[in-house]
Amino acid sequence: MQLYNSLYHKKEEFIPNEPGKVSMYTCGPTVYHYAHIGNLRSYIMEDVLEKYLRYTGLSVRRVMNITDVGHLTSDGDTGEDKMLKGAQREHKTVMQIAAFYTDAFFDDCRKLNIKRPDVVEPATHCIDSYIQIISTLLEKGYAYLAGGNVYFDTSKLEEYYVFNKHNAEDLEVGVREGVEADENKRNKTDFVLWFTKSKFEDQELKWDSPWGIGYPGWHIECTGISIKHLGEKLDLHCGGIDNAFPHHTNEIAQSEAYLGHKWCNYWFHVMHLNTNSGKMSKSSGEFLTVSLLESKGYNPLAYRFFCLQSHYRRTLVFSYDALDNASAAYTRLLSRIAALDFDDTSAFDAQGAQDLRTGFTAALDNDLNTSLAITALYDVLKSSVNDRTKIQLLQEFDTVLSLDLIESAKKCKQVSQTTNADAEEDDAEILALIAARTQAKKSKNFAEADRIRDELKARGILLTDTPQGVQWRRM
Ligand code: AMP
Ligand code: ZN
Repeated sequence: MQLYNSLYHKKEEFIPNEPGKVSMYTCGPTVYHYAHIGNLRSYIMEDVLEKYLRYTGLSVRRVMNITDVGHLTSDGDTGEDKMLKGAQREHKTVMQIAAFYTDAFFDDCRKLNIKRPDVVEPATHCIDSYIQIISTLLEKGYAYLAGGNVYFDTSKLEEYYVFNKHNAEDLEVGVREGVEADENKRNKTDFVLWFTKSKFEDQELKWDSPWGIGYPGWHIECTGISIKHLGEKLDLHCGGIDNAFPHHTNEIAQSEAYLGHKWCNYWFHVMHLNTNSGKMSKSSGEFLTVSLLESKGYNPLAYRFFCLQSHYRRTLVFSYDALDNASAAYTRLLSRIAALDFDDTSAFDAQGAQDLRTGFTAALDNDLNTSLAITALYDVLKSSVNDRTKIQLLQEFDTVLSLDLIESAKKCKQVSQTTNADAEEDDAEILALIAARTQAKKSKNFAEADRIRDELKARGILLTDTPQGVQWRRM
């Protein structure tokens, strides 16, 4: 499979360190609020990547952290603590907030058919690992103590900006955000590994450490959790594009300084989902959630379909019109599948299936082109293979796309059969009433004839007497 590697700005053949096995790490959510559908775009695309790697026969071990401590409102170590802010907003403890929004996140994932990673680790569970890594960084001279905090010294690295060259002005945190720059930092790109009580006095969660009671910086959790569960060499690291700098840049700095060798080979970054008014942001409190879409009558899988229709390396603009289009296309796709003969007992057409499979794998082998993978579904429907083969192939492709194609199409079929049956029953009853009215008129029982007409009218059926007989229509 060819995958775009953000580290080298080009597509590369994906080759894991150990043949047949993939270690995959995903930056998880910061659980101080609901995930917005932008966050979930990243998790949907990462889910397809994981499932496709499995589809190609690789065995994948995927780990995700849950950020329940240490993430400040700015990624550059300034501003308020996100978790504390969430707890204050809702008059709850940080742990209550974390538990509530972690559950809410996985509920959304379930609705979107995003598989739960093999390991899900809250940042607060691995404090010992961070302390051990930070101690080693201090011993090796990559970190220093200043003003009660431990900082990573980026001047000790040969190369710090691994993903993109950054403009020095980008890093003028104090100027950009209207807050005091951290005077303790020796270089403006240095970042905090461990905060002590000298910083946020009202911090709820604190742990003892060789440098005083405090709590970890945000970046160290991903290094600690990844190395703990996936070892010293990582194949694949994922996240939204905003994570590339400074979060992933700092993860690489501290991991490679600690390990003394290259850490992760492939970096997969998903571009943002924006609205017409701009970037969707959890911290601004104004964002779209899966529950909101549901309350407006959308099937969460229509949103998954919407995401799969575009490439993960393109910014995707959300609008209700665009979602309506995706939703209609998804429903049409399901009804086309529902029209297939599910009782077809023909033999599976292995050759025909192989040709169609090639279209699907070629799409995903080319840097996870999900929109072409969806085209491959229509190619199956249009093809001349028998219905049994079509159904089996669609089911196979859906192990990667997770659109519930067969299950939902079967439900569609049942609903349309019941609706048709109901309609037939209704029609028979209407015809019987019309016949009774004609009989009443013949017997000059006009009162009964009018009563039947009124009864039908009340049920939305309009009668017209014509020379050819009585005609009826629904109002
Ligand atoms: P957070 O909960 O803020 O730590 O973010 C969770 C994940 O969502 C990270 O991988 C982010 O990079 C990603 N993310 C944040 N905003 C967006 C967005 N608008 N579109 C796509 N992914 C995003
Ligand atoms: Zn991370």
